[in-house]
Amino acid sequence: MNEIFLYRWILGIWGKNAQTSCIFCNLSNFGTAQELTKNTSAYSILAPEPISKYHTIVLPKRHVTSYFDLTTTELTNINKLVFASQKKTKTRDPSVVGFNIFVNVGEAAGQTIPHCQIHLVPVRLSTSSPSPS
Ligand SMILES: [Zn+2]
Repeated sequence: MNEIFLYRWILGIWGKNAQTSCIFCNLSNFGTAQELTKNTSAYSILAPEPISKYHTIVLPKRHVTSYFDLTTTELTNINKLVFASQKKTKTRDPSVVGFNIFVNVGEAAGQTIPHCQIHLVPVRLSTSSPSPS
């Protein structure tokens, strides 16, 4: 399953039946190739529609829409995966010189799937990565 098809499939099932079909609550739907790392309360995957190569999304395992509803334990475990993903990306691609880290909270802010997502977007000198607005 290629990444663009997967992303469209995600949006499709989300529209039909919100929480019970939340793709991010059913990681097995991604297949093993999409999963990078996980711990007790979070996991990370490569973005289905990456802004740049190795764009990673870190997600809480619990279905929670807003970043501001995460528990302290979830925030700690998410942060561990953000750091691990940053390190892994720099190892995989030495041309990465920086990162954008962002979270969209609410539809008005650009959140399209109501499951909290923390984005880690590698920035390279040869390509520009837009800063989150
Ligand atoms: Zn969910």
